[in-house]
Amino acid sequence: MNVLVINCGSSSVKYQVVDVASGAAVAKGKAERIGDGRSHKDALSELLPEIKEHDIQAVGHRVVHGGDSFHDATQITDEVIKAIEACVPLAPLHNPANLAGIAAAREAFPSVPHVAVFDTAFHVRMPRRARTYAIDQELAEKHGIRRYGFHGPSHSYVAKLAADHLGQPLDELRLITCHLGNGASICAIENGKSVETSMGMTPLEGLVMGTRSGDIDPGVVLLLARELGVDGADKALNKQSGLAGLSGLGNDLRDILSAAAEGNDRARLAVSTFAHRVRKYIGAYAAALGGVDAVIMTGGIGENSAEMRRRILQRLGFLGLRIDEDKNGDARVSHDDAVQDVSSGTARVKTLVVATNEELMIAKQSARVVSGGKDVKSPRAIPIAVSARHLHLDRKTMDILFGEGSELSVYREISQPGQFAAEQKVNLIGPRGRIDGVRVLGPLRPGVQVEVSRTDEFRLGVDAPIRDSGKVKGSAPITLEGPKGTVHMEEGLICARRHIHMTPEDAEHFGVKDKDEVEIAITGGPRDLVFGDVLVRVKSSYKLEMHIDTDEANAAELSRGAVGDLVYTAAPGEAAAKLRKRRGS
Ligand code: AMP
Repeated sequence: MNVLVINCGSSSVKYQVVDVASGAAVAKGKAERIGDGRSHKDALSELLPEIKEHDIQAVGHRVVHGGDSFHDATQITDEVIKAIEACVPLAPLHNPANLAGIAAAREAFPSVPHVAVFDTAFHVRMPRRARTYAIDQELAEKHGIRRYGFHGPSHSYVAKLAADHLGQPLDELRLITCHLGNGASICAIENGKSVETSMGMTPLEGLVMGTRSGDIDPGVVLLLARELGVDGADKALNKQSGLAGLSGLGNDLRDILSAAAEGNDRARLAVSTFAHRVRKYIGAYAAALGGVDAVIMTGGIGENSAEMRRRILQRLGFLGLRIDEDKNGDARVSHDDAVQDVSSGTARVKTLVVATNEELMIAKQSARVVSGGKDVKSPRAIPIAVSARHLHLDRKTMDILFGEGSELSVYREISQPGQFAAEQKVNLIGPRGRIDGVRVLGPLRPGVQVEVSRTDEFRLGVDAPIRDSGKVKGSAPITLEGPKGTVHMEEGLICARRHIHMTPEDAEHFGVKDKDEVEIAITGGPRDLVFGDVLVRVKSSYKLEMHIDTDEANAAELSRGAVGDLVYTAAPGEAAAKLRKRRGS
């Protein structure tokens, strides 16, 4: 199958036609100087005659930011385009260029499937502790501020080649992949999954790059923003920092290495700062992985600069990393001869130089999606929403807690249509303890219902029954405290039963009906788990989504944006048995 791979940057369009079966690029080209009236569409039309000499069966687009929405390559529909647009605030330079490329290519190739392959997808399921910034979590949630990671196709591609070379299954290895190019990032891969990576919410965090600073005290950002304005600070950190800023000689490492060899002090500082940062990360990632089996060097610098590899690796002997100077100096990798082992005979940890091939990875992933392979955005996957403790109020209780005639105000919309998280918060008081600041969900309802987790119940000292939403009769007592008054409720506190909202069309698709109980399997994350006893709730106004509480999410170590699979069960427990069998336990 021939896949046209398109990589649209802010100023250029690059393409390759990849024959997926052989892995060969049968054509490639580039059009530059976009801007000043020249659009991505103009650039692509210039390239079209050469592209159209080949029979194109699918188009794979590199998309930089998929936010929380995309776990895998995904066939492009109008809905997918909207979701990519929603990620523009997170990647204001990259995503608009990617979208322009998608629009132009869909017009040029209207009858073949188009697939988006995301830089972020490989890292979506990083553990929470690795993806969270230590800032106010409400602020983080509101603006999607978390670590996403990039270069996913490259990290996953070289990890796979390394595992093949080592003759060990990827899911038994701990790898550190260093993608060192003009953009640079490093990734800790455990059992084939990304568990840490150095780029964060944007590709600015982490290593020293060609023109980007990488890690920096946020205080510096504030200072620069005050001194240069926000756009000035953005330019200083993204375009005038890194190797270019340190050396004053531009961003090409070859020039900087020659200047350093001639004694240029700024060039030397650039080289040693770059190497020091990578070495520091390798040590940190070895610690995060609890040990490491191989370190992989890739990208323009990682593949070609023996000198930089030596500088980075020279003091990591304590980890068992040792390179053979001759092998390191002689290593030459290419797409046809992609892996070279440069470790010395005594090394306990292998060092491999691997030629990355992001276009081939994008082509392969696109081909897999098009030919109906695994696609987690398929309609079988059910998005999972984690409900933090919350409560619903009725008119009478609202009056007592917040004052006669007071109204809920919208803090933010939530996923089910018409529902919102309100600005208003209430304190819960139980016989053993209290939980302050519990958010009210609007609009007002006919009755009061407080939904907490098992852990919360313990803190409050109450024993709440597991109930379907709306069934509060005979549930646990609780006292509510608002700014204007306090109400003691004899009942109303429940531990919500896990459930799935779906439309009648979804129900038909899954072959289930309202009030059915099903099992939902969570796989592919750090802790596979099957949830039994999940209630199906069908209504045309619902949006497909499974709701669980924070205890349940923690038990499965779910990331935001996680999905589950509805498992057809003849008998309860069958899904769990299947999962055990698949895992060979
Ligand atoms: P990439 O973004 O992966 O294409 O990598 C570009 C970077 O690789 C630039 O900084 C180049 O200077 C660097 N690079 C390519 N070849 C060499 C080489 N032989 N020695 C040192 N750096 C190199």
